[in-house]
Amino acid sequence: MDKLLDKKGFIIDMDGVIYHGNRLLSGAKDFVKTLQDNNKPFLFLTNSSDRSPEELRQKLLRMGIDCAADHFYTSALATAKFVSSQSPASSAFVMGEAGLITALHDAGIVMNDVDPEYVIVGEGNTLNYENMLKAVNLVRNGAKLIGTNSDLTGPSENGIIPACRAMISPIELATGKPAYFVGKPNPLMMRTGLKMLGVHSEDAVIIGDRMDTDIIAGIESGIDTILVLSGVTSRNDIDNFPYRPKYIFDSIKDVF
Ligand SMILES: [Mg+2]
Repeated sequence: MDKLLDKKGFIIDMDGVIYHGNRLLSGAKDFVKTLQDNNKPFLFLTNSSDRSPEELRQKLLRMGIDCAADHFYTSALATAKFVSSQSPASSAFVMGEAGLITALHDAGIVMNDVDPEYVIVGEGNTLNYENMLKAVNLVRNGAKLIGTNSDLTGPSENGIIPACRAMISPIELATGKPAYFVGKPNPLMMRTGLKMLGVHSEDAVIIGDRMDTDIIAGIESGIDTILVLSGVTSRNDIDNFPYRPKYIFDSIKDVF
């Protein structure tokens, strides 16, 4: 365990690791305090795109964990960075929440529902049939289709709900155009995370609850991986994947 605390940078998934919906998971608060007490750089890296870093900071604060907004990196920020680096000052039709729209706006992307360069799909309660029709039309007319993250489903307080990939697939099917996904396990997001932490991959560790995003992202980026069983993955599920995490713990409580 001491070896893990020797790591120089910590990338931490949120849902299923730190909290379930609005319920803080046991050990999360002590874990963050240990990192802070030891001056360890850490970054919460989440595929959810609906909240801004400041909103995530306030959500953790309500649960008793206090850290600055620059400790959060979301698939919304990663998508905005990707789109603005591909095509600076471009335009987009967006299906998503304030966290995504704000991130794109801050990166200089202009909202456009007539002839945008991109159609960008995130998650949230504002997705509707009318917007989906518009998105299909725009993609058929040449707009590039981008998804914030490739999760098919996500956890909620009311059980499993469709996530970005499930929401974008009707647009892919109706247009014949496959979307490009930016969030984990895309190495784009991991590289930016390491850069924000200021550490090399071999000095970092990623802690997550999903094999097909967190763990594969770590493996493919050369980062040591910790799977916690407090989220969507049970011990029996691990053998269904052709790869393994380096460490497995019941929850974040057991990491240090
Ligand atoms: Mg998770």
